Amino acid sequence: MFKESREAPIFHWTDLGDVTEGRPNLGPSMPVQVYRLFQFTLRDVLITELGVETTNHIFWRSGWEAGMAFSANTLDLTLDFSSFVAQLQQRLRELNIGVLRIEKADLENLDFTLTVAEDLDCSGLPMSDEVVCTYDEGFIAGILEQYTGKMFEVREIDCWASGGRVCRFHAQAK
Ligand SMILES: [Zn+2]
Repeated sequence: MFKESREAPIFHWTDLGDVTEGRPNLGPSMPVQVYRLFQFTLRDVLITELGVETTNHIFWRSGWEAGMAFSANTLDLTLDFSSFVAQLQQRLRELNIGVLRIEKADLENLDFTLTVAEDLDCSGLPMSDEVVCTYDEGFIAGILEQYTGKMFEVREIDCWASGGRVCRFHAQAK
């Protein structure tokens, strides 16, 4: 059981632990189903107990915190935009998170449309009338904020779950 209460998020990258030391035989990877099992059961309980609006907020906020920490700890934030995107594409591919493409980049207005194919969170899910990658919306917002110093509004506009073959996100600086 968690014992420590907290007033504000205090996640730190080192909270992830030393996987190399801790899993010398099993290694750093595990099946996608395990990740989805954790995330989807957590979402199920949160929606049941707290409602859909609060759950959306929690997933977005958690994704944002992950994106901020991920970019601060694993990406070179000093690169120019195209090199930064190339690096991000490579990292997301190496970690099997998804295949990122930038469809539109308006650097002057910080207005982007990007797609993620084979997305960890949703590719292959049954059809519904929902876009479900709320965590990814926050994750992308966190990465873009860490890189640009500006807060972003990110909305998923197509999703595997809503019938798309890729997830498509619109990101706009606030
Ligand atoms: Zn999606």
